[in-house]
Amino acid sequence: MTYIRGVEGEKMGLNKRYDGYKAYGYLDQNDFKRFKMAKEIDRVKEYLIPLSEEQEARVKKLAKESIFISLHEHPTILPENLENVMEYTRIGRDHCAYEGLSQSYYDVVFDNMLDGTSTITSANGWKWDDIIFDLGMRLCDIAHQDLVIPCRGIKDIYYAHREGKIAWVPSVEGAAPIENELDRIDILYGFGVRMMGITYSESNQLGSGIKEERDGGLTAFGKKAVRRMNQVGMAIDCSHTGYETTLDVIEESQHPIFLTHVGARSLWDSKRLSPDRVIKACASKGGIIAIEAAPHTTLTNKIRNHSIDSFMEHFKYIVDLVGIDHVAFGPDTLYGDHVGIHHLYAKQLSTKNTQGKEDFDEVEYVKGLENPTEASKNILRWLVKNSYSDQDIKKVLGENIIRVLKKIWK
Ligand SMILES: [Zn+2]
Repeated sequence: MTYIRGVEGEKMGLNKRYDGYKAYGYLDQNDFKRFKMAKEIDRVKEYLIPLSEEQEARVKKLAKESIFISLHEHPTILPENLENVMEYTRIGRDHCAYEGLSQSYYDVVFDNMLDGTSTITSANGWKWDDIIFDLGMRLCDIAHQDLVIPCRGIKDIYYAHREGKIAWVPSVEGAAPIENELDRIDILYGFGVRMMGITYSESNQLGSGIKEERDGGLTAFGKKAVRRMNQVGMAIDCSHTGYETTLDVIEESQHPIFLTHVGARSLWDSKRLSPDRVIKACASKGGIIAIEAAPHTTLTNKIRNHSIDSFMEHFKYIVDLVGIDHVAFGPDTLYGDHVGIHHLYAKQLSTKNTQGKEDFDEVEYVKGLENPTEASKNILRWLVKNSYSDQDIKKVLGENIIRVLKKIWK
Protein backbone atom coordinates (compact mmCIF):
# COMPACT_ATOMS: atom_id res chain seq x y z
CA MET A 1 0.00 0.00 0.00
CA THR A 2 1.33 3.44 -0.84
CA TYR A 3 0.48 6.16 1.58
CA ILE A 4 -0.05 9.68 0.36
CA ARG A 5 1.68 11.64 3.05
CA GLY A 6 4.38 14.17 3.63
CA VAL A 7 7.88 13.89 4.94
CA GLU A 8 8.26 11.72 8.02
CA GLY A 9 7.71 13.85 11.14
CA GLU A 10 5.61 16.36 9.23
CA LYS A 11 2.32 14.53 9.39
CA MET A 12 0.93 15.89 12.66
CA GLY A 13 -2.45 17.38 11.89
CA LEU A 14 -1.56 17.66 8.20
CA ASN A 15 -0.69 15.08 5.56
CA LYS A 16 -3.03 12.36 6.77
CA ARG A 17 -2.29 8.72 6.08
CA TYR A 18 -4.73 7.89 3.31
CA ASP A 19 -4.35 4.99 0.89
CA GLY A 20 -7.40 5.65 -1.29
CA TYR A 21 -9.84 3.36 0.55
CA LYS A 22 -13.51 3.99 -0.20
CA ALA A 23 -16.39 2.98 2.12
CA TYR A 24 -17.14 -0.77 2.07
CA GLY A 25 -14.20 -1.28 -0.29
CA TYR A 26 -13.78 -4.78 1.19
CA LEU A 27 -16.94 -5.84 -0.69
CA ASP A 28 -17.36 -6.32 -4.42
CA GLN A 29 -19.35 -3.90 -6.52
CA ASN A 30 -22.49 -6.06 -6.59
CA ASP A 31 -22.46 -7.29 -2.99
CA PHE A 32 -24.94 -4.60 -1.97
CA LYS A 33 -26.88 -1.95 -3.83
CA ARG A 34 -24.57 0.96 -4.50
CA PHE A 35 -25.62 4.43 -5.58
CA LYS A 36 -23.65 7.14 -7.32
CA MET A 37 -22.38 9.23 -4.43
CA ALA A 38 -21.88 13.00 -4.26
CA LYS A 39 -18.33 14.22 -4.82
CA GLU A 40 -16.32 14.51 -1.60
CA ILE A 41 -14.03 17.16 -3.04
CA ASP A 42 -15.32 20.16 -4.99
CA ARG A 43 -19.02 19.19 -5.18
CA VAL A 44 -19.35 22.94 -5.28
CA LYS A 45 -16.24 24.96 -5.97
CA GLU A 46 -14.17 25.20 -2.78
CA TYR A 47 -14.08 28.66 -1.24
CA LEU A 48 -11.07 29.57 0.88
CA ILE A 49 -10.87 32.83 2.82
CA PRO A 50 -8.17 34.85 1.04
CA LEU A 51 -5.01 35.40 3.11
CA SER A 52 -1.63 37.06 2.78
CA GLU A 53 1.49 34.95 2.32
CA GLU A 54 2.43 35.45 5.93
CA GLN A 55 -1.03 34.39 7.10
CA GLU A 56 -0.90 31.31 4.84
CA ALA A 57 2.33 30.26 6.53
CA ARG A 58 0.75 30.72 9.94
CA VAL A 59 -2.26 28.60 8.92
CA LYS A 60 0.04 25.79 7.78
CA LYS A 61 2.02 25.88 11.00
CA LEU A 62 -1.08 25.95 13.19
CA ALA A 63 -2.83 23.21 11.18
CA LYS A 64 0.19 21.02 11.78
CA GLU A 65 0.68 21.81 15.46
CA SER A 66 -2.89 22.12 16.78
CA ILE A 67 -5.20 19.31 17.72
CA PHE A 68 -8.36 20.18 15.81
CA ILE A 69 -11.61 18.60 17.04
CA SER A 70 -15.04 18.87 15.47
CA LEU A 71 -17.44 18.36 18.36
CA HIS A 72 -20.35 17.64 16.04
CA GLU A 73 -20.14 16.36 12.50
CA HIS A 74 -21.66 13.99 9.95
CA PRO A 75 -18.50 13.02 8.04
CA THR A 76 -20.42 10.89 5.56
CA ILE A 77 -21.38 11.19 1.90
CA LEU A 78 -24.91 11.36 0.51
CA PRO A 79 -25.98 9.86 -2.80
CA GLU A 80 -25.67 12.43 -5.57
CA ASN A 81 -29.34 12.07 -6.47
CA LEU A 82 -31.38 12.80 -3.34
CA GLU A 83 -34.24 10.66 -4.69
CA ASN A 84 -32.05 7.69 -3.69
CA VAL A 85 -31.49 8.81 -0.12
CA MET A 86 -34.42 7.02 1.51
CA GLU A 87 -33.48 3.68 -0.07
CA TYR A 88 -29.78 4.27 0.63
CA THR A 89 -30.59 4.93 4.29
CA ARG A 90 -32.78 1.84 4.67
CA ILE A 91 -29.87 -0.34 3.52
CA GLY A 92 -27.99 0.92 6.60
CA ARG A 93 -24.58 1.45 5.03
CA ASP A 94 -23.66 5.05 5.70
CA HIS A 95 -20.55 5.89 3.63
CA CYS A 96 -17.75 7.52 5.61
CA ALA A 97 -16.01 10.21 3.52
CA TYR A 98 -12.44 8.99 3.98
CA GLU A 99 -11.03 10.97 1.06
CA GLY A 100 -12.69 14.22 2.14
CA LEU A 101 -11.56 13.73 5.74
CA SER A 102 -8.00 13.02 4.64
CA GLN A 103 -7.88 16.54 3.20
CA SER A 104 -9.38 18.23 6.25
CA TYR A 105 -7.47 19.66 9.21
CA TYR A 106 -9.42 17.56 11.70
CA ASP A 107 -7.67 15.15 14.06
CA VAL A 108 -10.87 14.17 15.88
CA VAL A 109 -14.43 14.01 14.64
CA PHE A 110 -17.52 13.42 16.78
CA ASP A 111 -19.77 11.58 14.33
CA ASN A 112 -23.46 11.94 15.11
CA MET A 113 -24.41 9.30 12.63
CA LEU A 114 -27.04 7.77 14.87
CA ASP A 115 -29.82 10.29 14.54
CA GLY A 116 -33.27 10.58 13.01
CA THR A 117 -32.01 9.64 9.58
CA SER A 118 -31.17 6.14 10.80
CA THR A 119 -34.33 4.62 9.35
CA ILE A 120 -33.47 1.00 8.71
CA THR A 121 -36.42 -0.69 10.41
CA SER A 122 -38.83 2.23 10.81
CA ALA A 123 -39.92 5.29 8.91
CA ASN A 124 -39.36 7.65 11.83
CA GLY A 125 -35.93 6.77 13.18
CA TRP A 126 -34.50 6.75 16.72
CA LYS A 127 -34.87 2.97 17.16
CA TRP A 128 -32.40 0.98 19.28
CA ASP A 129 -32.01 -1.74 16.62
CA ASP A 130 -31.22 0.89 14.00
CA ILE A 131 -28.50 2.66 15.94
CA ILE A 132 -26.83 -0.64 16.86
CA PHE A 133 -27.00 -1.75 13.21
CA ASP A 134 -25.58 1.59 12.10
CA LEU A 135 -22.80 1.54 14.70
CA GLY A 136 -21.73 -2.06 13.98
CA MET A 137 -21.77 -1.46 10.23
CA ARG A 138 -19.60 1.66 10.50
CA LEU A 139 -17.16 -0.04 12.88
CA CYS A 140 -16.82 -2.91 10.40
CA ASP A 141 -16.01 -0.51 7.57
CA ILE A 142 -13.55 1.41 9.75
CA ALA A 143 -11.84 -1.88 10.65
CA HIS A 144 -10.90 -2.30 6.96
CA GLN A 145 -8.83 0.86 6.56
CA ASP A 146 -6.04 2.83 8.24
CA LEU A 147 -6.97 6.52 8.21
CA VAL A 148 -9.80 6.58 10.77
CA ILE A 149 -9.45 4.94 14.18
CA PRO A 150 -12.21 4.42 16.78
CA CYS A 151 -11.54 6.86 19.63
CA ARG A 152 -11.91 5.18 23.01
CA GLY A 153 -10.15 7.78 25.16
CA ILE A 154 -7.85 10.81 25.34
CA LYS A 155 -4.74 8.84 24.37
CA ASP A 156 -6.33 8.03 20.99
CA ILE A 157 -6.68 11.77 20.31
CA TYR A 158 -2.94 12.31 20.80
CA TYR A 159 -2.13 9.16 18.83
CA ALA A 160 -4.26 10.24 15.87
CA HIS A 161 -2.69 13.70 15.81
CA ARG A 162 0.82 12.30 16.02
CA GLU A 163 0.33 9.61 13.37
CA GLY A 164 -1.68 11.52 10.75
CA LYS A 165 -4.91 9.64 11.49
CA ILE A 166 -8.39 10.76 12.49
CA ALA A 167 -9.92 9.70 15.81
CA TRP A 168 -13.60 8.90 15.27
CA VAL A 169 -15.96 9.37 18.21
CA PRO A 170 -19.37 7.77 17.66
CA SER A 171 -22.08 9.89 19.26
CA VAL A 172 -25.85 9.57 19.61
CA GLU A 173 -27.67 12.83 19.05
CA GLY A 174 -30.68 12.05 21.27
CA ALA A 175 -31.28 9.42 23.98
CA ALA A 176 -34.68 8.18 22.72
CA PRO A 177 -33.21 4.80 21.63
CA ILE A 178 -32.36 3.83 25.23
CA GLU A 179 -36.15 3.93 25.98
CA ASN A 180 -36.49 3.20 29.72
CA GLU A 181 -33.33 1.05 29.93
CA LEU A 182 -30.48 2.66 31.87
CA ASP A 183 -28.20 -0.28 31.09
CA ARG A 184 -28.28 0.67 27.43
CA ILE A 185 -26.01 3.59 28.36
CA ASP A 186 -23.41 1.04 29.47
CA ILE A 187 -23.98 -0.97 26.30
CA LEU A 188 -23.49 2.07 24.06
CA TYR A 189 -20.33 2.99 25.96
CA GLY A 190 -19.13 -0.59 25.57
CA PHE A 191 -19.60 -0.30 21.81
CA GLY A 192 -17.58 2.92 21.77
CA VAL A 193 -20.17 5.71 22.07
CA ARG A 194 -18.58 8.55 24.08
CA MET A 195 -21.22 11.32 23.77
CA MET A 196 -25.01 11.34 23.82
CA GLY A 197 -27.66 14.05 23.61
CA ILE A 198 -30.26 14.12 26.39
CA THR A 199 -33.05 14.66 23.84
CA TYR A 200 -33.35 15.44 20.18
CA SER A 201 -35.83 18.21 19.32
CA GLU A 202 -38.73 16.01 20.40
CA SER A 203 -39.13 15.08 24.07
CA ASN A 204 -38.30 11.58 25.29
CA GLN A 205 -38.17 9.66 28.58
CA LEU A 206 -35.38 11.93 29.85
CA GLY A 207 -36.79 15.39 29.26
CA SER A 208 -38.14 17.98 26.86
CA GLY A 209 -36.77 18.88 23.44
CA ILE A 210 -36.67 22.35 21.91
CA LYS A 211 -39.61 21.55 19.62
CA GLU A 212 -42.08 21.50 22.52
CA GLU A 213 -44.08 24.51 23.57
CA ARG A 214 -43.79 23.60 27.25
CA ASP A 215 -40.56 22.37 28.80
CA GLY A 216 -41.16 19.95 31.68
CA GLY A 217 -37.51 19.81 32.77
CA LEU A 218 -35.40 16.74 33.40
CA THR A 219 -37.60 13.75 34.36
CA ALA A 220 -36.93 11.38 37.27
CA PHE A 221 -35.63 8.86 34.74
CA GLY A 222 -33.58 11.63 33.10
CA LYS A 223 -31.85 12.28 36.43
CA LYS A 224 -30.92 8.61 36.67
CA ALA A 225 -29.67 8.67 33.09
CA VAL A 226 -27.46 11.71 33.78
CA ARG A 227 -26.02 9.93 36.81
CA ARG A 228 -25.33 6.79 34.78
CA MET A 229 -23.70 8.79 31.99
CA ASN A 230 -21.46 10.41 34.63
CA GLN A 231 -20.64 7.01 36.11
CA VAL A 232 -19.70 5.31 32.82
CA GLY A 233 -17.88 8.38 31.52
CA MET A 234 -20.12 9.40 28.63
CA ALA A 235 -20.16 13.07 27.68
CA ILE A 236 -23.54 14.86 27.68
CA ASP A 237 -24.86 17.08 24.89
CA CYS A 238 -27.89 19.38 25.23
CA SER A 239 -27.90 21.04 21.78
CA HIS A 240 -31.47 19.95 20.96
CA THR A 241 -32.68 19.88 24.56
CA GLY A 242 -35.25 22.35 25.92
CA TYR A 243 -33.74 25.23 27.86
CA GLU A 244 -35.27 24.33 31.24
CA THR A 245 -34.30 20.70 30.82
CA THR A 246 -30.76 21.82 29.88
CA LEU A 247 -30.48 23.96 33.02
CA ASP A 248 -31.61 20.94 35.08
CA VAL A 249 -28.98 18.75 33.39
CA ILE A 250 -26.24 21.30 34.13
CA GLU A 251 -27.33 21.33 37.78
CA GLU A 252 -27.71 17.57 38.05
CA SER A 253 -24.56 16.48 36.23
CA GLN A 254 -21.44 15.95 38.25
CA HIS A 255 -19.38 16.88 35.17
CA PRO A 256 -19.49 19.85 32.77
CA ILE A 257 -21.72 19.35 29.75
CA PHE A 258 -21.46 20.29 26.07
CA LEU A 259 -23.63 22.29 23.74
CA THR A 260 -21.96 20.68 20.73
CA HIS A 261 -23.67 22.56 17.89
CA VAL A 262 -25.51 25.75 18.78
CA GLY A 263 -25.26 29.52 18.41
CA ALA A 264 -26.51 32.57 20.29
CA ARG A 265 -30.24 33.19 20.27
CA SER A 266 -29.48 36.84 21.05
CA LEU A 267 -28.19 37.15 17.46
CA TRP A 268 -30.95 35.22 15.69
CA ASP A 269 -34.30 34.23 17.18
CA SER A 270 -34.35 30.47 16.63
CA LYS A 271 -35.04 27.71 19.12
CA ARG A 272 -32.02 25.80 17.76
CA LEU A 273 -29.80 28.49 19.28
CA SER A 274 -29.16 29.04 22.98
CA PRO A 275 -30.25 31.99 25.10
CA ASP A 276 -27.56 33.78 27.11
CA ARG A 277 -28.73 32.29 30.39
CA VAL A 278 -28.19 28.73 29.10
CA ILE A 279 -24.79 29.57 27.57
CA LYS A 280 -23.69 31.20 30.84
CA ALA A 281 -24.94 28.29 32.97
CA CYS A 282 -23.11 25.79 30.75
CA ALA A 283 -19.84 27.75 30.98
CA SER A 284 -20.14 28.46 34.70
CA LYS A 285 -20.11 24.72 35.38
CA GLY A 286 -17.02 24.37 33.17
CA GLY A 287 -18.81 23.29 29.98
CA ILE A 288 -18.18 23.99 26.29
CA ILE A 289 -20.32 25.77 23.73
CA ALA A 290 -19.46 24.79 20.13
CA ILE A 291 -20.68 26.69 17.09
CA GLU A 292 -23.08 25.15 14.56
CA ALA A 293 -22.93 25.64 10.77
CA ALA A 294 -25.73 23.46 9.32
CA PRO A 295 -27.62 25.44 6.66
CA HIS A 296 -29.77 28.31 7.96
CA THR A 297 -28.92 27.88 11.64
CA THR A 298 -26.30 30.47 12.65
CA LEU A 299 -27.76 33.49 10.88
CA THR A 300 -27.81 36.91 12.50
CA ASN A 301 -30.19 39.85 12.25
CA LYS A 302 -27.54 41.63 10.19
CA ILE A 303 -26.38 38.73 8.00
CA ARG A 304 -29.39 36.88 6.63
CA ASN A 305 -27.68 34.66 4.10
CA HIS A 306 -25.80 31.92 5.90
CA SER A 307 -22.02 31.88 5.47
CA ILE A 308 -18.82 31.70 7.48
CA ASP A 309 -19.32 35.39 8.31
CA SER A 310 -22.61 34.92 10.19
CA PHE A 311 -21.26 31.68 11.77
CA MET A 312 -18.26 33.55 13.16
CA GLU A 313 -20.48 36.32 14.52
CA HIS A 314 -21.90 33.66 16.86
CA PHE A 315 -18.38 32.58 17.81
CA LYS A 316 -17.37 36.16 18.67
CA TYR A 317 -20.55 36.80 20.64
CA ILE A 318 -20.21 33.68 22.78
CA VAL A 319 -16.49 34.34 23.39
CA ASP A 320 -17.43 37.82 24.64
CA LEU A 321 -20.17 36.37 26.83
CA VAL A 322 -18.32 33.54 28.59
CA GLY A 323 -14.64 33.73 27.62
CA ILE A 324 -12.47 31.91 25.09
CA ASP A 325 -11.91 28.91 27.40
CA HIS A 326 -15.49 27.73 26.90
CA VAL A 327 -15.88 27.94 23.14
CA ALA A 328 -15.19 25.43 20.35
CA PHE A 329 -16.59 24.30 16.99
CA GLY A 330 -19.18 21.67 16.01
CA PRO A 331 -20.00 22.61 12.42
CA ASP A 332 -22.43 19.73 11.81
CA THR A 333 -21.64 19.54 8.10
CA LEU A 334 -21.57 16.64 5.62
CA TYR A 335 -20.56 15.73 2.07
CA GLY A 336 -23.50 16.22 -0.29
CA ASP A 337 -26.55 18.43 -0.66
CA HIS A 338 -27.24 19.41 2.96
CA VAL A 339 -30.00 21.90 2.10
CA GLY A 340 -31.72 19.25 -0.02
CA ILE A 341 -31.53 16.70 2.80
CA HIS A 342 -33.13 19.18 5.21
CA HIS A 343 -36.11 19.44 2.85
CA LEU A 344 -36.27 15.67 2.50
CA TYR A 345 -36.08 14.90 6.22
CA ALA A 346 -37.97 17.94 7.49
CA LYS A 347 -40.04 15.72 9.81
CA GLN A 348 -37.29 13.57 11.37
CA LEU A 349 -34.91 16.50 11.74
CA SER A 350 -37.57 18.90 13.02
CA THR A 351 -36.13 21.72 10.95
CA LYS A 352 -39.52 23.35 10.38
CA ASN A 353 -40.59 23.86 13.98
CA THR A 354 -37.21 24.83 15.34
CA GLN A 355 -35.50 26.97 12.77
CA GLY A 356 -37.26 30.11 13.86
CA LYS A 357 -37.83 33.20 11.78
CA GLU A 358 -38.68 32.67 8.14
CA ASP A 359 -37.24 35.94 6.84
CA PHE A 360 -33.85 34.75 5.64
CA ASP A 361 -32.45 34.10 2.19
CA GLU A 362 -32.27 30.37 1.57
CA VAL A 363 -28.79 29.48 0.31
CA GLU A 364 -27.90 26.44 -1.83
CA TYR A 365 -24.98 25.73 0.48
CA VAL A 366 -23.15 27.55 3.25
CA LYS A 367 -20.28 29.47 1.68
CA GLY A 368 -16.98 28.61 3.35
CA LEU A 369 -18.52 25.78 5.40
CA GLU A 370 -19.88 23.54 2.68
CA ASN A 371 -18.47 20.29 4.06
CA PRO A 372 -16.16 19.15 6.89
CA THR A 373 -13.02 19.68 4.78
CA GLU A 374 -13.85 23.25 3.81
CA ALA A 375 -15.18 24.09 7.29
CA SER A 376 -12.00 22.91 9.01
CA LYS A 377 -9.83 25.00 6.68
CA ASN A 378 -11.86 28.19 6.83
CA ILE A 379 -12.37 28.19 10.60
CA LEU A 380 -8.59 28.26 11.05
CA ARG A 381 -8.15 30.77 8.20
CA TRP A 382 -10.73 33.10 9.71
CA LEU A 383 -9.04 32.96 13.14
CA VAL A 384 -5.65 33.76 11.58
CA LYS A 385 -7.07 36.52 9.40
CA ASN A 386 -8.63 38.07 12.50
CA SER A 387 -5.32 37.98 14.41
CA TYR A 388 -6.21 35.60 17.24
CA SER A 389 -3.12 34.46 19.15
CA ASP A 390 -1.66 30.96 18.67
CA GLN A 391 -2.68 30.15 22.23
CA ASP A 392 -6.32 31.16 21.73
CA ILE A 393 -6.54 29.36 18.39
CA LYS A 394 -5.24 26.13 19.92
CA LYS A 395 -7.77 26.46 22.73
CA VAL A 396 -10.82 26.81 20.50
CA LEU A 397 -9.67 24.21 17.97
CA GLY A 398 -9.20 21.47 20.54
CA GLU A 399 -7.56 22.19 23.87
CA ASN A 400 -10.76 23.42 25.53
CA ILE A 401 -12.58 20.22 24.58
CA ILE A 402 -9.70 17.99 25.71
CA ARG A 403 -9.58 19.76 29.09
CA VAL A 404 -13.24 18.90 29.70
CA LEU A 405 -13.13 15.38 28.24
CA LYS A 406 -10.26 14.56 30.64
CA LYS A 407 -12.76 15.08 33.49
CA ILE A 408 -15.47 12.93 31.90
CA TRP A 409 -14.06 10.04 29.89
CA LYS A 410 -12.83 7.13 31.99
ZN1 LIG B 1 -28.30 18.39 15.56
